[in-house]
Amino acid sequence: MTIIEGRQLFRDRLKEEFEKFEIDFYFKTLLIDRFDRAPTVLALDPHSELLTSEAIFIEAAISQLLKHRPLQYILGKAHFRNLNLKVDERVLIPRPETEELVDWILEDHFEIKEKPMKLLDMGTGSGCIAIALAKEKEQFLVSALDCDAEILELTQENAQANGVKINCIHQDMNQMEGVDMELDIIVSNPPYVLPQEKKQMKANVLKYEPHQALFVPQEDPLIFYRLILEFAVSNLKPKGFIYLEINPMVNQALKDLINSFSYTILERIDIFGKVRMMRLQKK
Ligand code: GLN
Repeated sequence: MTIIEGRQLFRDRLKEEFEKFEIDFYFKTLLIDRFDRAPTVLALDPHSELLTSEAIFIEAAISQLLKHRPLQYILGKAHFRNLNLKVDERVLIPRPETEELVDWILEDHFEIKEKPMKLLDMGTGSGCIAIALAKEKEQFLVSALDCDAEILELTQENAQANGVKINCIHQDMNQMEGVDMELDIIVSNPPYVLPQEKKQMKANVLKYEPHQALFVPQEDPLIFYRLILEFAVSNLKPKGFIYLEINPMVNQALKDLINSFSYTILERIDIFGKVRMMRLQKK
């Protein structure tokens, strides 16, 4: 099978389920991310032969895409800002709106030159936020917390592969009593999707991404924000910041909760036009 024949197979087999531009994007991503081909290969060398193992992988990828398994899980790889991250079904696929949360932190702390700042990412998963921040600013001393020790191995592997050091902490957000930190910044993209939102969600997310990282109980949708705020009472310095990814559906309730602590609040809209981020500064 040649490269261009591989793409034709992709187009023929996937056309009922996906738009042509999506199919072509998937195929190109596969060539680059899995087969290590140059992005120009389709234009410059379309008739070069694929290896047998590559042709087999193409077949397997088609059948998984037909079941709506996300391409990033099929390839075991996702992109986040300038990072390549290993991902599997235990962690969320990093989202563009989370890149914007990282951008916000970098914008706010662009000026720091000398003094190191201590930063904690709560519920790190693949480590996308923590690693991106550590990579961008060496003054950030980054810790990343997750309740799952095996996931933290993946986080650590991703940090190493991207040439940064982060301190991984195995801890459940419910049991933070023993943790004692003097933080300048807390950042979190915690689970925040309501069970009632399931009906609008796509099969690729619902069937394959970890529900533990997505959903909160209907009766206590702010649980993780409350745990973060309680932890921040004694572990975030005065004037310290908390950056949160949020669900616009619970925005007001979240603000009410935050107002029972002592913070100034700023909201930000994401590329999709939704109020998706909040920055809190301790008074
Ligand atoms: N933004 C993700 C989604 O819409 C959810 C991420 C999260 O729950 N923290 O699927």
